[in-house]
Amino acid sequence: MEAASSAGDTRFLSGLLLHPKLYQVEVKDGKIASIVKEEEKLWNSKLGQVIDYGDAVVMPGLIDVHAHLDDPGRSEWEGFPSGTKAAAAGGITTLVDMPLNSFPSTVSRETLKLKIKAAENRIYVDVGFWGGLVPENAFNPSALEDLLNAGVLGLKAVYLIIAFGLAIRGAESFMCPSGINDFPMTNTSHIKEGLSVLAKYRRPLLVHAEIQKDLESPLGHEHGANDPRSYSTYLKSRPPSMEETAIRELLTVTKDTRIGGPADGAHLHIVHLSDSSSSLDLIKEAKHNSDSVTVETCPHYLAFSAEEIQDGDTRFKCAPPIRDAANKEKLWEAVMEGHIDMLSSDHSPTEPKLKLLEEGNFLKAWGGISSLQFVLPVTWSYGQKYGVTLEQLALWWSERPARLAGQELKGSIAVGNFADIVVWEPEVEFNLNEEYPVHIKHPSISAYMGRKLNGRVSATFVRGNLVYKDGNHAPAACGVPILAT
Ligand SMILES: [Zn+2]
Repeated sequence: MEAASSAGDTRFLSGLLLHPKLYQVEVKDGKIASIVKEEEKLWNSKLGQVIDYGDAVVMPGLIDVHAHLDDPGRSEWEGFPSGTKAAAAGGITTLVDMPLNSFPSTVSRETLKLKIKAAENRIYVDVGFWGGLVPENAFNPSALEDLLNAGVLGLKAVYLIIAFGLAIRGAESFMCPSGINDFPMTNTSHIKEGLSVLAKYRRPLLVHAEIQKDLESPLGHEHGANDPRSYSTYLKSRPPSMEETAIRELLTVTKDTRIGGPADGAHLHIVHLSDSSSSLDLIKEAKHNSDSVTVETCPHYLAFSAEEIQDGDTRFKCAPPIRDAANKEKLWEAVMEGHIDMLSSDHSPTEPKLKLLEEGNFLKAWGGISSLQFVLPVTWSYGQKYGVTLEQLALWWSERPARLAGQELKGSIAVGNFADIVVWEPEVEFNLNEEYPVHIKHPSISAYMGRKLNGRVSATFVRGNLVYKDGNHAPAACGVPILAT
């Protein structure tokens, strides 16, 4: 692939600006060499190949900063090959893999090496890695520095305490009904230590923020009131106050990240926000006080609401939970107004048997939404009602995630950047049914199956390589592991 070009009525996003005129993007050695207006383009230039995408939208490839590909160790849940094929088919050109749900967790130089080895020659898009901040390394700055020097793009911590004996299993915390938990949770002191080490590296700390302080279960004890097949039982078990309490505590340490503060240079990013009330207000306040803080939410919190989740349909179980329709409206408002900085998939699959689809027990089923391939059409389709623009999609899914992950040459279409590009047709409608080419390993556990969506991805380029086109992938897996230097 020598050149990707746009012609005809193509709408082309240079960086984030929509140019209604006609442009041609020249790609050379994996990077964008020039962006030329139609009337100025030189057909006698040395372009090797010219592709005309007609009416399609040409946009920077999506960067998903929150995906669990479960490789090595649990590749039967997803794995790098199917996960990155699904990403490519969904217009994602870079994803950052979470340090948990694979085995072992990515918490040291050695375990990062295992990740890189598992990814080599098996990834269809570029993949970076977050390292884990866990109690065993949090008070050991040299261990953390060793992990950061080995190339993780930042650290991830699970700040989640469930202080009662109820069998609730979260996406980030409890591994599966066998009771494995190989990614221990952190507290405020660990977070503070992590931030002070990260400051030197100017890399972020991502945090799953949920905390249950009461020793009592929030579930009532009345006989029959807590049907485990009822979504409301699960929802009650993880109220918005769990997010709020965690975020309130986290924000006591983020003042260290202010300019001139002891952790100036570090940054705290709150993952998968679901509560759009008090939790969001706290984040707004911290930003107002110049704490270095950002927040993401995920398409499933923007697409679904608790009211529509049928009894026993554990495909919708995730943590924090999908809340009511009013919460969803407020979440959209926050995204549209810029209080939520970016979106991520939090693709967190497992094997169908652990989703307990037949039993339908929300309290025992694996928590995690399978979505990787669908995030672009989902954001676009469900965003229509709110007037989502292409520029906003590029901001939430490309530019800001690139900044969080420290990828200066990604996230926008600009001369000198990597030619990471998605070509897609926003008007094309499709049904996510058995006939649709789905590339995630276990389509049956995805809450999106059966939905009608708008926005079909026609081609995806990673570093100028055409990795996906109309349902087919390139024969070679030519994505590369991205390591921080
Ligand atoms: Zn996650």
